[in-house]
Amino acid sequence: MSDCLFCKIVKGDIPSTKVYEDDVVYAFRDINPQAPTHILVIPKAHLGSVNDVNIVNSVVVARIFEVIPQIAAQEGLTGGYRVVSNCGADAGQTVHHLHFHILGGKELSLEMA
Ligand code: AMP
Ligand code: ZN
Repeated sequence: MSDCLFCKIVKGDIPSTKVYEDDVVYAFRDINPQAPTHILVIPKAHLGSVNDVNIVNSVVVARIFEVIPQIAAQEGLTGGYRVVSNCGADAGQTVHHLHFHILGGKELSLEMA
């Protein structure tokens, strides 16, 4: 999608701090970190949110969840971490390209409920 911020990041049209990349997944540092480590993991192909995951494209979500522990290890998140995906208005989703936040590097509060 040409007007999607994260599609532009995948294409390199908007700069980002890459932490991981393969043929279908891209991960980069959140510009407004909510924890000492705050990384966004996204499919390279545009999906709007968790609501767009289906039997055809869910393989990329599986790949994302294979990659997340690798990134956590790379980042030294030995004490644990949180994975969050905001879906829709009530969750406060602001970028409508599916993304998973990895938050860690401190003891996290339980406020994100
Ligand atoms: P959400 O509110 O779940 O849609 O998360 C969107 C996230 O994208 C927020 O945590 C933002 O700080 C982050 N974000 C927005 N623009 C950029 C950018 N250009 N580079 C990195 N992260 C961004
Ligand atoms: Zn997109």
